[in-house]
Amino acid sequence: MNEFCKAARIEKSATVDEGDLTLINAQALRPLAAEEVFVFRLAACDDQVDRDYERFTKECLETLAQLYVGKPVLKDHSWSAGVQTARVYAAQVETQSGVSRLVLRCYMPRTEGTAETIAAIESGMLRECSVGVAVARVTCSICGVNQLETLCKHGGGQEYDGKLCHFDLDDPRDAYEVSLVAVPAQKEAGIIKSKRYGGADPIENTDPPGGGPGDDTSWADKALLELEKNRFNLEGSEDETQTD
Ligand SMILES: [Zn+2]
Repeated sequence: MNEFCKAARIEKSATVDEGDLTLINAQALRPLAAEEVFVFRLAACDDQVDRDYERFTKECLETLAQLYVGKPVLKDHSWSAGVQTARVYAAQVETQSGVSRLVLRCYMPRTEGTAETIAAIESGMLRECSVGVAVARVTCSICGVNQLETLCKHGGGQEYDGKLCHFDLDDPRDAYEVSLVAVPAQKEAGIIKSKRYGGADPIENTDPPGGGPGDDTSWADKALLELEKNRFNLEGSEDETQTD
């Protein structure tokens, strides 16, 4: 299985209507009023070949949409308490000009603690985000081999008989989180993307020294454990922070 973090983008903040409130309140412990919540949309992963010569299949995006509802929005992939800022309350695949894109709709309570983050999103300082998901199939477009079972000899971005090689990400097993990341002045530098391989050794090993498959497994385990813990923490803190 492969865990991926892919760059994404905060599209825009949106207004809260009755439909949103119903979905939000399916996640919250007590009913929240429209003026108590801030909502925004994340244009997450799409089905286009990206800079790593990988693409999510449309079926993969559809399943990810289901997996993402209820999952946390973090800052910089950090699970520590206090940085969990928002939660995904709805997700769907939207197709425009032939591009299918996973759109996550997120909310956070308007409190003193979240005011700074909300201001950062509204002003465009927090603009980029990155999704952390796990897939079980990474298929070579040239030979059809699942790279998690057998590594083929083809390289992404290389041409073979006039066909450009890329890899299809499919069979999603989990969506752990989506993270907001601050954008430095340089546009390119703001895009964070990292790959975490949990299966066979990757062709291109970009792990930092000391990293390896062991770390990858613990990353996913840790994410799952924190998801369980935060399920209770977030609900508790939401309840508490809304009292005044
Ligand atoms: Zn191949």
